[in-house]
Amino acid sequence: MSKTFQNISGTFDILPDAFNADGTVIESSASWHFVEERIREVMAHYRYLEIRTPVFEPTELIARGVGELTDIVSKELFSFERGDTHYVLRPELTAPAIRAYLQHHLAQKGGVQKLFYMGPCFRAEKPQKGRYRQFHQFGVEVIGASDARADAETVAVMMQIYASFGLKDLVLKINSLGDEQTRPAFKNALQEYFEPLASELSDTSRRRLKTNPLRILDTKVEREQELVKGAPRLIDYIDDASREHYEAVKGHLSDLEISYTEDPFLVRGLDYYTRTAYELDSPHLGAQSTLAGGGRYDLLAQELGSSEAIPAVGFAAGLERLFLALAGEGVKLPDAVKTDVYIVAQGEAAEKWAFKTANEWRSSGLHVAFDLQGRSMKAQMRDANRHGASKVVIVGEDELTSGKAIVREMETGDQETVPLHDLLDRLRDVVR
Ligand code: AMP
Repeated sequence: MSKTFQNISGTFDILPDAFNADGTVIESSASWHFVEERIREVMAHYRYLEIRTPVFEPTELIARGVGELTDIVSKELFSFERGDTHYVLRPELTAPAIRAYLQHHLAQKGGVQKLFYMGPCFRAEKPQKGRYRQFHQFGVEVIGASDARADAETVAVMMQIYASFGLKDLVLKINSLGDEQTRPAFKNALQEYFEPLASELSDTSRRRLKTNPLRILDTKVEREQELVKGAPRLIDYIDDASREHYEAVKGHLSDLEISYTEDPFLVRGLDYYTRTAYELDSPHLGAQSTLAGGGRYDLLAQELGSSEAIPAVGFAAGLERLFLALAGEGVKLPDAVKTDVYIVAQGEAAEKWAFKTANEWRSSGLHVAFDLQGRSMKAQMRDANRHGASKVVIVGEDELTSGKAIVREMETGDQETVPLHDLLDRLRDVVR
């Protein structure tokens, strides 16, 4: 027997029908289309325009844009090289979006750029429910606006997307990270607090204590979570302007009737994040409870070579986790487009007629299927059922000779004989 191949662990195929892969339902391609389309619609209403960037980027862009110290860059990049150039499969889309903004001088268009993206990302993680090696993100970037309404609007479009699917069990957490002075002062305070407790920390956290103590705050180790409760709070270290901005963002969220909880331990590990940070959680996701994360990153553009600071704010969300939340809340996704008409043909002349006629009807807007295997009438009727066809047109040698075909309503079983030249008109009523 020759060898067959499997997809790489942590990646998955999306098939016409949903299927179960190791306990996780991978939804049908039609469900993916539906969800993606809905997201595009909401983005359009909020006037976010799509940006598509390549799936691979220079390693240096991602190292700078995501941060050398992050797990993503230090452990999870899929990388390769050709000649002297090092590339990575993109692990996220903010750095690529800002790269494109700078490269194409989008600032010169004037005003604020409101971009959205949707596409695959890659991280070499240990695969588990809600955590994959190829996954799909959608998100927005508002570039060029420092106004607190921009922060609130990114939250609003995100909430609207989830609400548009009927999701209810959502927890929005927000915090402020202050400005570039805040972080070093807070880091020092954290180090001072955790150093005497170092013997109680895990190896990972002890390492982080030196490099990136903020990461200890989102520890998943219960014993450490207890220690975190007594740790200094970022909010006590932020500057006055950031505090004012934070109050303004909260005010705008209240104006939009978006409920949130303040989470003093919500941090984004990267230095270029400033001021607003937020996260959307769902109780239906298990250990990977985060649907989306976002915030302001006024210092990123300079990190990526801009000569001046460009204020920006956005969020990134996972499509697979959206599907998990939908399943968790029992939201039914619509079925794929069904076949309108199935042509059952018997005999060579009828098959030829079916082949040609199906093509004409398809270009007139009908979804038409027929058999490609020369099967029996009975098998073709079964196939029509499988297709969920609303009508079946039956033709054989006799029908062709008499210039008529049988039209069968699949729901009622009613049948009538219709002249061939009237068929298309009779069938049009099934077009949605
Ligand atoms: P991040 O860029 O890490 O802030 O992630 C933003 C969102 O992308 C998360 O909230 C998840 O919904 C999703 N996400 C991140 N990493 C993965 C992954 N490995 N598998 C599936 N979804 C992910």
